[in-house]
Amino acid sequence: MLLDNHGRPLTYLRLAVTDRCNLRCFYCMPEEGIKYLPKSKLLSYEEMLRMVNILAEMGINKVRITGGEPFVRNNLIDFLEKLAEIEGINDLSITTNGVFTGDYIKQMKSIGIRSVNLSLDTLDKNRFYKITRRDEFDKVYETLFRLIDEGFEVKVNAVVMEGKNIEDLIPLAELTRNNNVSVRFIEEMPFNGEGAHYARLEWDMLRILEELNLHFPDLQKLQDGPYSTSYNYQIPGYQGNVGIIAAFSRTFCGTCNRIRVTATGELKTCLYDDGVLNVRDLMRGGVSDEELKSEFMKAFRNRAKDGFEAESNRKNIVKESMTTIGG
Ligand code: SAM
Repeated sequence: MLLDNHGRPLTYLRLAVTDRCNLRCFYCMPEEGIKYLPKSKLLSYEEMLRMVNILAEMGINKVRITGGEPFVRNNLIDFLEKLAEIEGINDLSITTNGVFTGDYIKQMKSIGIRSVNLSLDTLDKNRFYKITRRDEFDKVYETLFRLIDEGFEVKVNAVVMEGKNIEDLIPLAELTRNNNVSVRFIEEMPFNGEGAHYARLEWDMLRILEELNLHFPDLQKLQDGPYSTSYNYQIPGYQGNVGIIAAFSRTFCGTCNRIRVTATGELKTCLYDDGVLNVRDLMRGGVSDEELKSEFMKAFRNRAKDGFEAESNRKNIVKESMTTIGG
């Protein structure tokens, strides 16, 4: 088993396949978007496949594809097919904003993708437009139900933001009444291309929980999985469940089993670090597989104990857009 220097197993890679996105979510990037990089600066699919092969040999068994918006990158499905064939990778999933996703449902199924995280912060078309700066609510909403009907394990991710979507908390939780879906409320982080939108986070996990308890006094705590980043609950009689991800409060670092690689090949052993090695540069410099393994191992054995330590080790404050990282 691949362990970090704190004895935590590392099994899960979140891989951003692009820095581009077709939405302009307020909490993720400025209105004009961010400066996208030329394709030559991004890891090619071949480089990603080589890297995942190496990581799978080291002990990574789960890959989640993210971005940017994964479906914005050309030929994603061909890449996913190859990724699914890598020995040792037994769980392949995707995080998407759902705008183009509907066109690929059948292919995702046949590749063996079972779990889809769909980002949807509101059930109101106007608020969706205000948050994402794009008029795509109908497509995303339709895709949500198609994914559920097709039997995917669907997690709806909603960032909770004062003045933007507080009135959506209960309607989003109500989605779990008749649908076998997990709705997860995420604390807003300062990864937005500009820096923190708030001096103090208004909607932290405790306040979100308070709000849910107010409307659903019988809310029941569920047993969380061993590496779960969400605290999970169920409203009695409802089919799905709700969760809260303390992404800013960082209360789950003690069991964190994940690493990230950005679209430019930057390895992050914590979401809050600013990159610990660049896989693209090493590969393009001619590194061998064995050398790359040993570079990975050095990074894994030097992992910050939590998101606060990782943040304090950074050269710059947290303000890069999540689209450049992969959430
Ligand atoms: N485009 C895909 C999507 O929308 O799901 C994948 C990339 S997106 C960056 C991944 C996740 O990061 C989304 O669920 C999004 O809501 C979340 N995210 C982005 N910026 C965030 C922020 N500042 N705070 C909390 N979550 C954020």
